[in-house]
Amino acid sequence: MNFINKITVVPKLPEEIVGLKELSENMWWTWNYKAQQLFKKIDENLWNSVQRNPVVFLKKVEQKKLNSAVASNDFMSLYQEVMNNFHNYMNEDQKTWFKKTHSHTNYGEIAYFCMEYGMHESFPMYSGGLGILAGDHIKSASDLGIPLVAVGLLYRKGYFIQKINSEGWQESIYLDYDFSDFPIHPAVDQNGEEVYVSITLPERTVYIKVWEIKVGRVKLYLLDTDLLQNDPEDRKITSTLYGGDLEMRIKQEMVIGIAGVRALRKLGYKPSVWHMNEGHSAFLGLERIREFVQEYNLSFSEAVQAVRAGNIFTTHTPVPAGNDLFPIYLIDKYFGDYWPQLKATRQDFLDLGLEKQKSGESLFSMAILALKLSGRANGVSKLHGTVSKKLWNHVWPGIEWVEVPITYVTNGVHINSWLNPLLQESFKKYLGEDWMLKIDDPDLWTKINDIPNEELWKIHMLLKKELIKFVRESIKAQRMRHGETVEQLEEVENIGNEEALTIGFARRFATYKRADLIFKDPERLKKILNNPERPVELIFAGKAHPADKPGQELMKKIYEYSRDPEFKNKIIILENYDMNMARFLVSGVDIWLNNPRRPLEASGTSGQKAGMNGAINFSVLDGWWNEGYNGKNGWTIGDDRDYENHELQDKIDSVSIYNQLEKQIVPLYYERGNGNIPQEWIEKMKESLKSVTSFFNTYRMLKEYTQKLYMPASEQHRNFCSNDFKVVKDFTKWLNLLKENWNSIKIHVMFDYEKSQIINAEEEIEIQAEIYMPGIGPDSIIAEIVVASLQNGKIEQLKTYDMKLVKEIQKDAYLYTGKIKIEDRGEYGINVRVTPNHPYMPHKNYLMGLVKYPE
Ligand SMILES: *Cc1c(COP(=O)(O)O)cnc(C)c1O
Repeated sequence: MNFINKITVVPKLPEEIVGLKELSENMWWTWNYKAQQLFKKIDENLWNSVQRNPVVFLKKVEQKKLNSAVASNDFMSLYQEVMNNFHNYMNEDQKTWFKKTHSHTNYGEIAYFCMEYGMHESFPMYSGGLGILAGDHIKSASDLGIPLVAVGLLYRKGYFIQKINSEGWQESIYLDYDFSDFPIHPAVDQNGEEVYVSITLPERTVYIKVWEIKVGRVKLYLLDTDLLQNDPEDRKITSTLYGGDLEMRIKQEMVIGIAGVRALRKLGYKPSVWHMNEGHSAFLGLERIREFVQEYNLSFSEAVQAVRAGNIFTTHTPVPAGNDLFPIYLIDKYFGDYWPQLKATRQDFLDLGLEKQKSGESLFSMAILALKLSGRANGVSKLHGTVSKKLWNHVWPGIEWVEVPITYVTNGVHINSWLNPLLQESFKKYLGEDWMLKIDDPDLWTKINDIPNEELWKIHMLLKKELIKFVRESIKAQRMRHGETVEQLEEVENIGNEEALTIGFARRFATYKRADLIFKDPERLKKILNNPERPVELIFAGKAHPADKPGQELMKKIYEYSRDPEFKNKIIILENYDMNMARFLVSGVDIWLNNPRRPLEASGTSGQKAGMNGAINFSVLDGWWNEGYNGKNGWTIGDDRDYENHELQDKIDSVSIYNQLEKQIVPLYYERGNGNIPQEWIEKMKESLKSVTSFFNTYRMLKEYTQKLYMPASEQHRNFCSNDFKVVKDFTKWLNLLKENWNSIKIHVMFDYEKSQIINAEEEIEIQAEIYMPGIGPDSIIAEIVVASLQNGKIEQLKTYDMKLVKEIQKDAYLYTGKIKIEDRGEYGINVRVTPNHPYMPHKNYLMGLVKYPE
């Protein structure tokens, strides 16, 4: 029959529970498990088969199931509770941490930019750690009441779905998502009109639609180029996350950076802080320069200073090659018509990002652009802060790496998103209903000891069982797809043993993470895993980037081990690592293994998720674990050294893994007391619960961002832009004058002791210097003595002592004096130098490259 029409019928939500629709359209439900239970109670199978996506769920649920939910008293009282919680949350903005601690100020918004956001598996706009951190960041900003607005891209195909084929190769599958399945709506402006913005590419305009998604109280705006009016090529710009070639990447980054700023403006935002989470969005700094130049008539150099005041850059990549680099011809092609609008010359423009490579070629670096256009920058763990200072030292010529002004804020995870509901209940019972409001209080954490060991172990074993069930279902689906025999399928029921010590290893298959390290000595590993008295099993999961062949080979290698009869059922590899699988793994395993090649793991967050769920970390002292390990809450691999020789590092680290498994970890796990419970092991779990949850959470992280970075940047931004930009204009005028005259500075140093003399600790030394500085004057500089403590001739630490102006000795020449006292024996290097000084410089090395030493 030919139909004259085809219609889709969706269920009608009964009046009593219409709130479910509102709930489905705010990501708040993703971190409130009772809200999830509502959907699960209506139809658990459907809930799981739609990847726990409430929008799709409400399209597909059978009418009679909705009706019977309404008829259930239990359901209705849970519904009331959840809706009350939701409405209270949305209305209690005034009671949040931010409002309480920063109520005296009326700051503009904090605009947060990231290429990916991982909030839940049902909204697959993330690839891994960076995206999940961004998701946790905005959820926590919502909880704390921080006035943040977020910007990203809406990918038609998202990131790929991973299948493992029967040979162990990764297959990447891209789905075309239907946006009506997502909790997004077209963003509208003050007049209720849908918001479109555009950018110019060579010889054409690309139109961009702006979508909105609610994340609690925070709004995330997502940009979409898949519009009819665009050239078919340009419609693909927002097709896949980290897909395509360099040219695609530059276009994506123009969309997020340039169109992102334009979208916020159309929506009426006036942010005072602009936070770039990783360098992908650094073009936003250029667009802000354009605004200042075009709309407020600032010069290029004034605009650069105005932009730096409010910009913050968070770097996540300790490997130089991991940062985006564009060849100059692409910059010419895409920005040739743009820099004139900044009143910049080509050279001015290129200077913002140029970086000379080892090959001798100069490329345009997004990280350098971000650093040069941000007054403040940070790494994501203490160690990564140090690594970043060294990595980016060349952006601050003339100062030592220890002085590079890149600070750090150690990553955390959003507790409500990652702490298993059973443990959340347990924390409420023993730490108090309002424990989450007191996580900064050390006294709170001693109460973890009040959780009876039996109770904690029971929860752990329950979660382990759930993990094993998940593992079996996943492997079964994989094997059915491979067309395996009935016997091979039945064997799946033998995979996963809840009594065995279970080790989890899940992360991207990037080679530096060394997923195969534990196979360095397969015979030794076999003995550890196959001991019949004390069995051990290993679960692997992770995606390799589609362009990363070595990563895919690593995966294949592990797949082959998993099918090797001698490792039968002891090595397990799961396909399609996502947030759902992550929740099962981090709460169900006993040990969370992490063995990256130090110091390449900027932070890592999966170990934090594991640690707060009672899985004990066994990790290289890299990233967050370098701070997190306290001697009692887990184990470390290797030592806190970096190696030049990779082969040697692998050997030492793998032997360390075997030794500790054999001598400590396995024996401790199998040391059972009353009721078959490993008491000592549970003590370690408790240490982990305490030390990880109390610090490595995003509440602490967001508070640090607010105090260390957001508030000072906001303050400086407002100051610089105040009085019709008088401050930034004066500052720039001063700076330009300083730059013109800087090279004429001459320093002549006079010591009151002979050079290379041996002196005693705590003896005071006076140093005088004559400083000649035509056109500058003493108010604009600091003269200081620098004392560097040396280890094998290398600078370990640096201390500076301000010198005092004694008098003007002749025109433009001044006498300075200073005293130093060295506390301890050792080898020290001493020097005098001049650096710029201005009350509006937020920190000493704010101005890159202005530092003068004696010749
Ligand atoms: C937490 C998480 C990550 C990041 O963890 P790392 O420790 O950085 O590897 C990646 N992918 C998923 C799915 C996660 O949940």
